[in-house]
Amino acid sequence: MGNLVAMKCPQCGAEMMIDPDHEFTMCEFCGSKQFLNESDEVKAERLRRDRETAVAKANAEAEIEKKKIDTEYQLKKDEIRTGVDTIRSGVDMLEQGADVIEKAKGALRLAVLFAVILLAIPALIVGCIIFNAIG
Ligand SMILES: [Zn+2]
Repeated sequence: MGNLVAMKCPQCGAEMMIDPDHEFTMCEFCGSKQFLNESDEVKAERLRRDRETAVAKANAEAEIEKKKIDTEYQLKKDEIRTGVDTIRSGVDMLEQGADVIEKAKGALRLAVLFAVILLAIPALIVGCIIFNAIG
């Protein structure tokens, strides 16, 4: 329902409100059915409203399309961001792993050094004893 246009019933003279979108109307007082001859003004008004409706519909559809694209773009962006975060935490884990290996290497070197010292001292003592026994 758009703008209603007032007109007088040709049968009984009662005031009727006409929707210009419809081709006929019924008088609510006498019940006579009136076909509407669109006046140029009414026709122009109807065409103008049709065009406005079409433009509004196109705009609404464009807005929906734009929102859809925005949403898809946002989702892709979030996906990429999550992917980058995953890669970043993977790199962090690798770096931590490398640190652990580096520390383990240090500990192993220390352990080997201790083992050599612990073995060398008794060997030296035994050596001295044997040397004294011979001499
Ligand atoms: Zn009437």
